[in-house]
Formats: sequence, C-alpha cells, structure tokens
Amino acid sequence: MKKITSIKTRITIWYTTLMFVLIVVVLSLVGGLSYQLSIDSVEKNVILQVTQVTEKLSKRQPGVFEIVESKEEFKNVSIYEMNGKYIVGQYNYDVVNIPFEEGIPRRESIDGKDYIVYDTRTPGPPGRHGGFWIRGVESVNSTTLLGRSAIIIMLILIPLILLLTALGGYYITQKAFRPINNIVKTANDISHQKDIKQRIEIAPDSKEDELHHLSVTLNKMLDKIENLIKQEKQFTSDASHELRTPISVILAQGEYLLDIAKDEKEKELAQTIVDKSKQVSKLVSRLLLLARIDQNRQKFNKEKVDLGVIIDVAVDSMKELAAQKDILLLSNVPEGTIVDADESLLLSAITNLISNGIKYGKESGHVSVSASKVGDRTEIVVADNGVGISEEHIDKIWTRFYRVDDVRNDEYGSNGLGLAMVKSIIELHGGEITVKSSIGHGTEFRIVL
Ligand code: ADP
Repeated sequence: MKKITSIKTRITIWYTTLMFVLIVVVLSLVGGLSYQLSIDSVEKNVILQVTQVTEKLSKRQPGVFEIVESKEEFKNVSIYEMNGKYIVGQYNYDVVNIPFEEGIPRRESIDGKDYIVYDTRTPGPPGRHGGFWIRGVESVNSTTLLGRSAIIIMLILIPLILLLTALGGYYITQKAFRPINNIVKTANDISHQKDIKQRIEIAPDSKEDELHHLSVTLNKMLDKIENLIKQEKQFTSDASHELRTPISVILAQGEYLLDIAKDEKEKELAQTIVDKSKQVSKLVSRLLLLARIDQNRQKFNKEKVDLGVIIDVAVDSMKELAAQKDILLLSNVPEGTIVDADESLLLSAITNLISNGIKYGKESGHVSVSASKVGDRTEIVVADNGVGISEEHIDKIWTRFYRVDDVRNDEYGSNGLGLAMVKSIIELHGGEITVKSSIGHGTEFRIVL
C-alpha cells in the first residue's frame, strides 16, 4: 500500500481517529452511567411503591387491595398469600414463579426480558394466618429502550461529527498550509522557468503566523539572490566590455609583429600572440553576448529572413575548417524558406553548430544542415557522423564553460561557451533546441523556430 505522504492528510487522519476514540469513550462512559442511574431510579420507584402498600397493609387500612388493583401509582405492585398464591395486582404474570426474597431489590431475567423485583412481607389481618407477600416488579426494558435510542443517536451522530471534524479540519489545515503550496510553486517556477524575479505570493489578509514569516523571509532572500545575480551579470558584461579594446590592440600588434617578423622564431612567437588573442577575443565576445541576452540588453532585430541564404553563408564560412579534416558539408533548404529572426544572431548560432560538427566530426566524414517547415514552425537540423556525446554528458553540454574532453577541445581553442550561446540565441527567438547523440555514430541538433 502506498504510504500517505501529505502532512494535511496525516494530520486529518490523526485527529479524526483521536476524535473517534474520544467520542466512543465519552459516550460509553456517559451511556453506562445514565443506564445505571435509570436502573437505580427504577429500583427506588419499585421500593417506594412496595413500601407504601406494605405500610397500608400493616396499618390494616381498608381498601388496600382495590388501591393496588386500580391506582396508577401502584401499577407495579401485587399482593400474594404467604404460600405464593396471587391475590391482586396489575403486573406481568411472567414473574409469578420467581421465589420471594424479602427486602432485596434484584434484577431477574425472564424470557430475555429484565425486571427489577423487590419483595416485602407483612402480617395478615386478624383471622388470617401468615400475612402477605408484597411484590414490586418493573420491567427495565423501558430503560434499555432509552439506551437503545441513545445508541441509534450515537450511530448517526458519530459519523456526522467525524465527517464534520475531518472536513473542517482538512479545510483549516489546507488554508494554513497554503503558504507552503505557494512556496513550492514559486520554487518550481524559478527552477523550471529560470526566472529569479518570481516571488512567493502572500495574500494581503494572511495571518502573521510562522508560515507568513517564512514566506516573507524567503522573498527577502530571493531579493538578495536576484541582486547578486544582477551584479554578477553586470560584472561579466563590464569586464568583457573593458577587455575588448586591449585585446583588439594586442591582436593588431601581434598581426603587425607577424608582418615584420625577421625569422621563423619571431614568426612563431607572433603567430602565438595572434592565435591566443583571437581565442580570447572570441571568448570575450561570447561572454558579452551572453551577458547582454541575460540582461535583456541584446539588440534583436527580428525580421523576415531567407533561411537558405543564412545557411549558405554559414556553410561557406566553414569550408576551410571542413577541408582540413576532409569533411563534406551538405545543405538542403527548400527555396523560399523564410523565418522571423535576427539574421546575424541566427547565422552565428548555425555557424557554431556546423563548427562543432566539424570539430567533433570524423576525418572524411560529413556535416549536413537541412531545414523544413513543420506546420507554421521551421525546423533546422545540423547533423554529423562524428564522435557523439555520451549520456552522462548530454544534459550538461548547454552549461557555460562545460567541455566534455578538455584535452581534445584545447586544440580548437574551445571554451565551452558555444552551445550555451546557441541556446540563448534560440530561446531569445522563442524557439527550442534539442540534441540527440550516439557515441561513435554522430550528433544531431534540432532547432525549432
Ligand atoms: P566548445 O567551445 O568546447 O566546443 P560547446 O559549448 O560548443 O563548447 O560544446 C560543449 C561540449 O559539447 C564540447 O566540449 C563537446 O564535447 C560537446 N559537443 C558539442 N557539439 C558536439 C558535436 N557535434 N559532437 C560531439 N560533441 C559535441
């Protein structure tokens, strides 16, 4: 059986059970007590009637038999001769055979019915021998009837009270736990939508209890985190911006040194300066682009552009790199495939994917770029038959600075920002990018715009 995990349900079950036990214990105690009290009062009543008749008989009052026979107040009394022969009375004849026992009220059971029986004795009038037995009998069925109706009421009341308790309690705990639902919802929204601007909703009329304080504190913490992230983005953006000019200067001077190099050694040194400054320049521009997209500051000119043209330009720019590994570049875009996009951003995303296909492609392999319309959306697929990405890495390749194989990537001046940038660009367009890969067989990136 599945374990109940909701605290609300567990609390409700706990106090409903407790309530049930409590009601049963209290009602049993009260029921038992009131049953005993009513038996006591029956006993008292029988004794009183018998005593009164006994007194009348002992005082030799005339007309006692008639009184016993007719008066309502003596309806439980009857008179017998000393040998047990019934003389007069209004009671139930079933009890005739119960032996007489003077002065002891007792409970007798006849044919499943309970009676309180009380006997006394008195000397008979002059001229008669032995006197009389005076017997009082009252059925206790009327008392149990009372008990029975109490049981019926209990049977209706207990489920009703329990239902009300459970519903009322569940409603109150649910209300009390609402802030927790809001906290969970906000935490989920933040992690799924990656939007740190979200805050826990606090109802204006909410009570200032512990959960209210928790929500307020968490919101303050989120303010702080948002601020820190903002500062960090600002820092990345400022630092990249500041680095751009000195790097351009180093690159320009490196190129100049390469031009005027007198021998192979100087050429080699100058070439290293040029290569490394190009690498840093690429890193800085990617960082700056990512920071701008993060801060919603990236210029974004969405217009109708011909996808065929963009893919042709991207493929052309990668021909030289592909030739180095004898990789065949293929493209297949139906004529007139128009998309709403920022031309230069989309170009840079597609170029990046082709460049990765070549970098991680097999010698003499191929990289293909194709596009097609699916409904009102456009699909772009960049596929290679290269090394592939293993399952343990595939979810992480979008993370900034994540590289699967540091050593191999270094020969291309990789920095692990390429796919992060591609994803940011595609998401900026409102699109999606997914990847499928198989180790040793190749990788396929699919963009839907
Ligand atoms: P890098 O600049 O290192 O190429 P990326 O963000 O472009 O950074 O890629 C991250 C990692 O994903 C790379 O280190 C590489 O291991 C892996 N990867 C990306 N594209 C491919 C591909 N087409 N085939 C195999 N692995 C790839």
